[in-house]
Amino acid sequence: MEEGSVTMALTPTDSTSISATTETDVANPSVPAPIISPDSPGITPTEHPLEAPRLTPITPQPGKALYRQLLPGIMQVPADLLLAASRKSSLWPMTFGLACCAIEMIATYMAHYDLDRFGIVPWPSPRQSDVMIVAGTVTKKMAPAVKLLYEQMPNPKWVISMGACATNGGPYTRYDRVLQGVDKVIPVDVYVPGCPPRPEALIDSFLALQDQIMEERSVEGRS
Ligand code: SF4
Repeated sequence: MEEGSVTMALTPTDSTSISATTETDVANPSVPAPIISPDSPGITPTEHPLEAPRLTPITPQPGKALYRQLLPGIMQVPADLLLAASRKSSLWPMTFGLACCAIEMIATYMAHYDLDRFGIVPWPSPRQSDVMIVAGTVTKKMAPAVKLLYEQMPNPKWVISMGACATNGGPYTRYDRVLQGVDKVIPVDVYVPGCPPRPEALIDSFLALQDQIMEERSVEGRS
């Protein structure tokens, strides 16, 4: 066998009886490589009908990107859209509750409502969470702890204010020791009305948050 040539031949006892020969002149790269197609001598088309078009050489069309001709099913999307779609499809809310609204939040995490189908997975640590659900009454004694947990979450992060208490004090709107809205200490992205809101309302707030993440995908420096 000469240097730079490769010869492959299957034994005649093989049931498919495939034999192929490919010659490549390594010493002289200016010699074009042979075009391999189903009609090329020595090539036996496979039995799968989709293989033949794949092996047929294309004729490049001017004005059309080559990768679109080679891979007609390929999609081209902005990188920020991919990042936003990944973020909104893997929201990890921190498991943390303050009062009776937290019972509804826990019920939402149960199998009956199946939050996993949205990629929402409750997580018991602020270090890996990206959503804080403020579920319950925020007292002025608890507010610094809520703020600390929020600051321990990595960016980007979002906050859902669940229920009347977290939004504006709710039934305790004139109580001096109750914070009149958690947005006094941390930014809030979605407010959920109700006392308490039903699990469906909390799911709806997640869907609203997902829409917001997609709308704000090109905003830089979002925290
Ligand atoms: S909004 Fe109603 S249910 Fe929720 S924590 Fe306040 S009092 Fe409880």
